[in-house]
Amino acid sequence: MTSDLTSTPNPLLSELPPLGVDADSLALNFRQYFGHTLGRDRHGTPPHCFYTALALTLRDRLVERWKATDAAYAASNCKRTYYLSMEFLMGRALSNSMLNLGVVDSTGEALNRLGLILEEVAEEEHDAGLGNGGLGRLAACFLDSCATLQLPVTGYGIRYEYGMFRQHLEGGYQMEEPDHWLRNGNPWELERPEFTRRIQFGGRCDYYRDSEDNLHVRWVDTHDVLAVPYDIPVPGYQNGTVNTLRLWKAAATDEFDLSEFNAGSYPEAVAAKNAAEHISMVLYPNDASENGKELRLRQQYFLASASLQDVLLQWTRDRDDDFGEFADKVCFQLNDTHPTCSVAELMRLLMDDYFLEWDPAWQIVSRTMAYTNHTLLPEALEKWPVRMFGSLLPRLMDIIYEINARFLKEVSQRWPGDVGRLARMSIIEEGPVPQVRMAYLAVVAAFSVNGVAKLHSDLLQQDLFRDFYELWPHKFNNKTNGVTQRRWLAASNPALSELISETIGTGWVTDLQQLRKLIPFADDAEFRAKWRVVKQESKLRLAALVQADCGVAFDPDSMFDVQVKRIHEYKRQLLNILHVIHLYDRIRRGDTADWTPRCVLIGGKAAPGYTMAKSIIKLACSVAQVVNADPVCDDLLKVAYLPDYRVTAMEVVSPGTDLSEQISTAGKEASGTGNMKFMINGALTIGTLDGANIEIREEAGDDNFFLFGLTAEEVEAQRSAYNPQAMIEADQDLRRVMKLLESGHFNPAEPGIFDGIISSLTVHGDYWMIVADFRSYVEAQRRAAAAFRDEERWTRMSILNCATSGKFSSDRTIQEYNAGIWHLKPISAARGGKCA
Ligand SMILES: *Cc1c(COP(=O)(O)O)cnc(C)c1O
Repeated sequence: MTSDLTSTPNPLLSELPPLGVDADSLALNFRQYFGHTLGRDRHGTPPHCFYTALALTLRDRLVERWKATDAAYAASNCKRTYYLSMEFLMGRALSNSMLNLGVVDSTGEALNRLGLILEEVAEEEHDAGLGNGGLGRLAACFLDSCATLQLPVTGYGIRYEYGMFRQHLEGGYQMEEPDHWLRNGNPWELERPEFTRRIQFGGRCDYYRDSEDNLHVRWVDTHDVLAVPYDIPVPGYQNGTVNTLRLWKAAATDEFDLSEFNAGSYPEAVAAKNAAEHISMVLYPNDASENGKELRLRQQYFLASASLQDVLLQWTRDRDDDFGEFADKVCFQLNDTHPTCSVAELMRLLMDDYFLEWDPAWQIVSRTMAYTNHTLLPEALEKWPVRMFGSLLPRLMDIIYEINARFLKEVSQRWPGDVGRLARMSIIEEGPVPQVRMAYLAVVAAFSVNGVAKLHSDLLQQDLFRDFYELWPHKFNNKTNGVTQRRWLAASNPALSELISETIGTGWVTDLQQLRKLIPFADDAEFRAKWRVVKQESKLRLAALVQADCGVAFDPDSMFDVQVKRIHEYKRQLLNILHVIHLYDRIRRGDTADWTPRCVLIGGKAAPGYTMAKSIIKLACSVAQVVNADPVCDDLLKVAYLPDYRVTAMEVVSPGTDLSEQISTAGKEASGTGNMKFMINGALTIGTLDGANIEIREEAGDDNFFLFGLTAEEVEAQRSAYNPQAMIEADQDLRRVMKLLESGHFNPAEPGIFDGIISSLTVHGDYWMIVADFRSYVEAQRRAAAAFRDEERWTRMSILNCATSGKFSSDRTIQEYNAGIWHLKPISAARGGKCA
């Protein structure tokens, strides 16, 4: 039976009485979920049931506001943005939901009455780790800011069955375990099978004429997969708005391969259906490098097609097939090139399904697509072999050829006879294996192309997209990244939040620039003392994590020196390790006058196929073992490798850090966002002039930042005459460090395992300029150590870093996206669709 619920007034759809957010209402609801829905009693209840009951209790409150938000958006006929991303690194949802609903205290009270402890229940939640690192976490911070700013923005992504792998260490080697994050169910999601879409793969293009003799194209003989949406609520901060993150799961169609079926191979026919479901099975664990696998391209097209079909369905449901206003009402933001199939897919849908001509379809595409670039590293720039692309997505390949032909015509009109330029700019890279350059496709189609920090955006114009910048300077802009202070300060550092709020009020939670009001308190000794008490508590919390996960005792009176991020050569964890070896060498030779005791923490995952990154993890672990076992280091130096670095770990790590390591080779880190989380929590940065570090230093002031290293320009200028072996010879300290490494001091039982690392610095030319920056890094570390010994001075600097971190709120970033690219009007759900 399918009932028509839309025609007559129906009590089923009439508004329910509002749910209470007091402790009584929450406790009653919790008991109903626990006792009835989950059917539990005192016997053998798995601990996750308490968490599930609580999540469902809170979800009900979110759903109320969610529906009101949907209704307000629909009523206002507003413009909307769709944020397309292969990754959303959301982390946990529980504490964020409580904070944004304003029910932290009442929830704690409700659980107390039921004999439960909120903190313990919250520990049952598994991270939603549907991303690799910065790019995926940025998408999550952006969703939080959009909801807080009441902007009608929907996230579209993939509901991977397995997210980012879990990392553990065996003998210092990274081991990967599948992350089956959905094992106990996901109480935050709502399955929406009614919005299932069909996605085509393979087959061929069929050209046909309609009754009026117009030529059309049909994509036929395809192997289809279903895309089933799961919606996750994204609450704004105490404002009644709940936006949507819609994640697609792949499912087989109900069609059988009839030939196999009729041949009596029923199990084989059913098993073949299974392959369809592989599309959303697993997140590719590569950060800042592409891997070129066909399944990855399938995932990308799956996201693009499902999301665009969904948007077009919503559009046509209200407006028939009139696309006249579409480009005024819709914007797509592409998070890197990963969703760039969308460019060709939107052309296909508009032309083949809605029968628009090329020109009006291209008008719509090129007025709605905006592209964010995340890296200049050549190994991360996506290219797909034309053969693979054409056999998997033949209709899209045809469309890309046509886009390219029209584009190159424009180029040759502007620069007649410049064939070199045509070859450089072509979307199709010619050669033995012709490839589709996805970044160029994105730039050609998009009306906006942005980098993610000032330096990065400048380098895009000067290097990677130089020719395109010459042609279309107006497309290029910068949007310096940010992070949400709700998760990265209010929720993760409650003690510091409280101190800040009692000092300057709570306005910073939605207006981070208000932290500037703390500046005068840097000179207030009483305030500094309070600041230190809070920092000490956070360091104890971090020390407990290190003790539990690494078995290493960190003394909270030492300087906590931390580098957590994906392991990559450009991020130069190796430079950090060489400095640790240098400190160890100094201790061993008795050079310890005016020593600052230090606890060095390194953490992060390496892509499973990235051999050099895995060796660097092993080296960090080996050095840690030798240092920690040597009694001469006791109290002076400790080193630990934190396994399974993830969002939930960072929520403990950033509050407890004194010194934040942001030491990438200049010109290689597009922005960084870890650097911002540390700054907001009052850590000082030791860093290069790279990515957003430059802007962090501008805000904090030169005196409150430990700068070292070559600039991006100097890095490129030095390359031609660079001789790292001569520089090692000329630096006594570095020579001793290399000697220790080469002697096998850190790997007595496993000779030769670090030869690859050593030769990368010497005979292989040290591409990442670690040797070139070593001396300058050691000196900056000495300045940091000296500053830390002066407790009052360090506290002052810490306060000033926090106080000047306002720029790095993702609220500011999103306001810039909106002012410069999206042009959305805020809609207040609580006030019935009026502009906020
Ligand atoms: C913020 C964050 C990152 C990004 O860190 P960078 O230092 O900018 O590379 C990566 N992973 C997690 C879990 C994060 O929270």
